[in-house]
Amino acid sequence: MALIVQKYGGTSVGNPDRIKNVAARVAKYRAKGDQVVVVVSAMSGVTDNLIKLAKEIMPLPNEREMDMLLATGEQTTIALTAIALHAMDIAAVSLTGAQAGIVTDGVHTKAKIHNITPKRVHELLDKGNVVIVAGFQGETMDGQITTLGRGGSDLTAIALAAALKADLCQIYTDVDGVYTADPRLVPKARKLPEISYDEMLELASLGAKVMQSRSVEFAKKFGVIFEVRSSLNDNPGTIVKEETKSMEDIVVRGVSLDKNQAKVTLVAVPDKPGVSARVFKALGDANVNVDMIVQNISHGSGTPATDLSFTVDKPDLLKAQKVIDGLQKEIGYKETIADEKIGKLSIVGVGMKSHSGVAGKMFETLANEGVNIEMISTSEIKISVVVRLDKGEAAMKAVHAAFLGN
Ligand code: ADP
Ligand code: ASP
Ligand code: MG
Repeated sequence: MALIVQKYGGTSVGNPDRIKNVAARVAKYRAKGDQVVVVVSAMSGVTDNLIKLAKEIMPLPNEREMDMLLATGEQTTIALTAIALHAMDIAAVSLTGAQAGIVTDGVHTKAKIHNITPKRVHELLDKGNVVIVAGFQGETMDGQITTLGRGGSDLTAIALAAALKADLCQIYTDVDGVYTADPRLVPKARKLPEISYDEMLELASLGAKVMQSRSVEFAKKFGVIFEVRSSLNDNPGTIVKEETKSMEDIVVRGVSLDKNQAKVTLVAVPDKPGVSARVFKALGDANVNVDMIVQNISHGSGTPATDLSFTVDKPDLLKAQKVIDGLQKEIGYKETIADEKIGKLSIVGVGMKSHSGVAGKMFETLANEGVNIEMISTSEIKISVVVRLDKGEAAMKAVHAAFLGN
């Protein structure tokens, strides 16, 4: 008898028939005698719609209230999934994140899991139930509802698998696994049989939304091996696990394009110590995640000044602008420019550690496509560039073809 955690994403529970399919799959595992914990997302489109509703009332809604609102999406699905299992005569109980013992910090809309006490989950499993847990949500120590960031049901599943010491963790989605690029953007992309945590982490944080990046971080930290696979068929998926030596033979494992980034530029910032510290400390205090940073000293005449550009997630742009506006008097920069028309294109692979010439090949490919590079950042296993959004997809296809073939 195995203990299995299965997570079903929004499309996989997108309508009553899909929910019945989930119940049927769970039933198959139950019939083998396995204990099953099911984590579900909100039905596809529901979370986006709730966000839209709130923003129609106010552009920057209170984050505690956003969590209160967004948590309802997953609460609908857990009950419907339990009902679908009951309809098949299978004992099932739904639990909210809080009822499942998921305790988080108090950073609303991006809470981190503090600990999980899955006592109730164990008790219900031992009594023969399938336990259905609402993804994406938890509760603070003093009872406030929180959410775990977009895509956070992945994190719920992986954290529960770790806390329950599950034998298997399966992430069911609407594609057959992790591909060399988003198959919706690059039709030539191929499914990967396996990928290392570090590569998955980079791809996820660079825009491959197939897994939430924080969930991969969690899996790496606690050694949770998981499989990404389709809820629509029985094909084997992609195993995500610790790097093995042979993984380094492949230079580039995947390509990703993040269209959800925005660039902020502070024009003519006085060139003196402490300015960057002030800007990024203030952004950090407001929980705005900054990714790439570029600073250019102007060698023109007059007082030395620099342009300071950085990227943030699009949803954080308004908040970032508000923070920066609040600093204008103190810092004395000229103006800010917000640019939402950018895309961040990245290549990722542990093989880059031991191969040279990768950046040159990427930049040459982009040059041949007539794509201008606006920002560059690299790490041991990735190279990212910022390009114009409208060039992003063509650039991605060209880079995929150059490194991963047609
Ligand atoms: P779920 O609702 O199941 O969590 P998501 O929509 O969050 O599903 O993630 C699945 C989607 O991720 C796929 O439909 C696919 O378009 C996209 N995706 C982006 N990059 C990749 C990739 N490298 N491999 C597979 N899917 C990817
Ligand atoms: N429903 C949440 C979202 O859309 C969480 C998830 O789907 O994983 O981001
Ligand atoms: Mg997802």
